[in-house]
Amino acid sequence: MKVVLENLTKQYQSRNIKGQTVTAVNNFNFEIPDGQLIGLLGPSGCGKSTTLNLISGLETPTSGRIFFGDRDVTSLPPEERGVGLVFQNYALYPHLTVEENIIFPLQNLKGAQKMTKEAMHAKAMEVAHLVQIEPYMHRKPREMSGGQQQRVAIARALVKIPQVLLLDEPLSNLDARLRLQTREELRRIQRETGVTTIFVTHDQEEAMSISDLIVVMKAGELQQIDKPQNTYDDPANLFVAQFLGTPQINTFEARIQDGRVFIGDEAVLEVSGQKDRPVWATVRPEGFIHTENGALTCRLDRVEVMGRDVSVVSTHPAMTGRNIRTIIAAEEAPDITGETVRFNLKPGKVFLFEKDSEERIRL
Ligand code: ADP
Ligand code: MG
Repeated sequence: MKVVLENLTKQYQSRNIKGQTVTAVNNFNFEIPDGQLIGLLGPSGCGKSTTLNLISGLETPTSGRIFFGDRDVTSLPPEERGVGLVFQNYALYPHLTVEENIIFPLQNLKGAQKMTKEAMHAKAMEVAHLVQIEPYMHRKPREMSGGQQQRVAIARALVKIPQVLLLDEPLSNLDARLRLQTREELRRIQRETGVTTIFVTHDQEEAMSISDLIVVMKAGELQQIDKPQNTYDDPANLFVAQFLGTPQINTFEARIQDGRVFIGDEAVLEVSGQKDRPVWATVRPEGFIHTENGALTCRLDRVEVMGRDVSVVSTHPAMTGRNIRTIIAAEEAPDITGETVRFNLKPGKVFLFEKDSEERIRL
């Protein structure tokens, strides 16, 4: 099911300052293609949950409309939208068994949709198989691990075959290993069912690894919608460049002058057709080539061995943030020692942004 957001805005009365409004979602216009897994990504408080709750019907928009396919669902209550919901805290009924939790949404079906006990059991087993919890159908939630409980929650969200599956930070309560494993499971389940899925996370790596498309948000404003790799390789603005990628992209105060980009008094890149002005120059950690006569001279702090690669940590007066992190293949970094270290920059790994608007400068 395709989901379309049209001029969607949600304002709240501020919790902190009386009479003030907070715009949690500001004029969203985008289309979520049928059958895809969309990652809604942004820092805490940027409006991810609000967006999801507007789509589910748990929240009513201040203005704008929501369509499922061609159907306007803006004024429909959640139970009539056919959405499956999964939250961070599982929200299972503690006194019910796993199977009873899963079939819970089926028990209130009325009329022609009403199901027999046997049909409900069969359906429960089908989704339990999908999320691989069949052996635990008679357990209570507390007798299961966090990862297993979240699978039950996913099974329950899928049992009515939702038009859209909505997941709000579903992996945040799991430990690191389970989180990795469960996110791969989620991807598999989404592929097998083909249900249009919207997945909220503040973790850029999580969003990158499982999404078909990423929606990057900041303070209620849409920043970029793109394929995961494009958000990394082709960021729309400084925020997106800095939010995606670990180690974080390196940001320098720089200027364009006479067709070249200067960091301090060193020219690091040629640019044509750009007028002279101050800019932000950002460089991905893998965008540095260590070489004796490199264009950019940095003060060497330390070299961290990471196995296949080494991380060279250095500083530069024009650098914003603590230090410069560069990732270099171990065999290309023999004995980096001394006071300074010099780099050339890979043009495809350098992005320039306007100083004030922080918008990308297209070269
Ligand atoms: P996220 O899920 O990205 O962390 P939310 O959608 O929960 O962000 O919140 C977005 C903004 O809206 C925040 O500033 C938050 O404080 C505010 N907000 C969310 N829900 C309410 C509410 N019920 N009342 C007032 N402000 C709210
Ligand atoms: Mg949230």
